[in-house]
Amino acid sequence: MDEASTEVTNSPSDDYYDVVVLGAGISGLVAASILSSQGNRVLVADDYKQVGGNHMDWTSTEGYTFDVGSLIFQDDSPLLRHFPELLAYYVPISPSWGRLSPQGKVTTCPISIRDDVLGAGFIGMTKILISLAFARLFRRELKNARDFARFWIGAELLRQSGLEAYMGRFYGLPAEEIDLELARKRMLWISEHASVTNLIRRALRGKQTGRPSNRQMARPKSGFSILYNAAAQKLKGAGVAFLTAAGTRQIRKTAAGFELEFSSTRATAARVVSTIPISVIEGLSGMTTQTDLRTITLITLYFSFDGERGFSPSIIYNFSLTGSWKRLTVYSDFYGSVAGREYFAVEVVGGGAYSSAEAELEFRGHVSESGIFKGDLKLEGSQILENAYPIYSRGATERAAEAVRRLEAYGIETIGRQGKFSYQPTARVSTIEVEAALGRRG
Ligand SMILES: Cc1cc2nc3c(=O)[nH]c(=O)nc-3n(C[C@H](O)[C@H](O)[C@H](O)COP(=O)(O)OP(=O)(O)OC[C@H]3O[C@@H](n4cnc5c(N)ncnc54)[C@H](O)[C@@H]3O)c2cc1C
Repeated sequence: MDEASTEVTNSPSDDYYDVVVLGAGISGLVAASILSSQGNRVLVADDYKQVGGNHMDWTSTEGYTFDVGSLIFQDDSPLLRHFPELLAYYVPISPSWGRLSPQGKVTTCPISIRDDVLGAGFIGMTKILISLAFARLFRRELKNARDFARFWIGAELLRQSGLEAYMGRFYGLPAEEIDLELARKRMLWISEHASVTNLIRRALRGKQTGRPSNRQMARPKSGFSILYNAAAQKLKGAGVAFLTAAGTRQIRKTAAGFELEFSSTRATAARVVSTIPISVIEGLSGMTTQTDLRTITLITLYFSFDGERGFSPSIIYNFSLTGSWKRLTVYSDFYGSVAGREYFAVEVVGGGAYSSAEAELEFRGHVSESGIFKGDLKLEGSQILENAYPIYSRGATERAAEAVRRLEAYGIETIGRQGKFSYQPTARVSTIEVEAALGRRG
């Protein structure tokens, strides 16, 4: 972590707070913004030594800055209502997205009518249409994400486009084990694009002309730290205390509220608002974990490259039938190359004994088979992130809701991506959900 990140690490000056917020990710920072604006004395405690949660960066000695996951925001994000100063740090970008198809082509994401349907030839197209008609007529009972996607695009296109393979790769589970509710939220685009009513409506409306109402923005070239430190500094200015590298040990309920024990200090508070994983907060407060809620371990490989990359989009998803990597993001498209080299990050779903070295070897083999990145590909570094995002196995949503109810009955409010085991793909969604939970906008 760079120097700037330590600026926000101030120890609590007094051990009593109206609210202790556990976790200094987007949810924790927005929660602190709302709670302090409501007149509360707030402490934000995080076990990481930096703020920003799982949005974290890494800079190599050669000067390449990479990060875990994606880095795209919009200039109309509700996060900016709480931290308007962030806008000046963002870099305006024009990103483009593509996918590596099972046929080894980098094409439109997530489905290309030209490549996946028309390109399948007469027999292939007939199969796609028959399987679609079959699904709409006889596969109406939806139990999981595979059923959902198959109902809307048919089994043939689901397989042939590589969407089924990608779903398994992204969620860390075969598509038939993924929760239906998540599919409804995450794959809304399928039902929107494949519904006959919507197709007719679009055809009648003709080609859309208007410009998008918001601008796409990337994090600053130097990484996330500068961004989230600015948010923390603003909160500090409003009287919020921070305890990073907190080493949270225990939470005890008392007559007046809660007593929290950290590695080097203690605090008491009337309320605890948690954004940390459900199983962790259960453990800290002495509750027996009754909930099987698994999370993805994400390996991110950081490469620099000189040569013929073989595709133009800045972000590509792996929809091919092989390879464990799921997405790659070419940073040099947004920030310019460094010493004449492009640089990009590759996300691989890890876990178990699968190491970064194995992930690298596999990625190199896969891109060489696929004919992309022909030239000098150099690994600059890698990171492993536990609890990157929830695995939505069937029934996990209900199990999480039950655990949240138990925690709330105990008096702990739990919010956020991990705190609620909630599908939050963006800072926008996290902000809206925290605002709804804590009842005030910035
Ligand atoms: C890989 C990745 C890519 C993303 N890409 C984008 C994007 O492109 N655009 C966008 O808008 N948003 C993006 N996001 C943001 C994301 O969608 C959510 O908005 C965000 O992760 C939600 O943050 P959170 O605060 O709920 O959880 P987290 O960021 O997970 O924060 C939880 C915090 O709890 C802390 N914690 C855990 N255990 C303890 C403990 N025992 N005691 C104290 N603290 C603890 C952790 O250290 C962490 O800081 C991305 C996130 C990730 C992880």
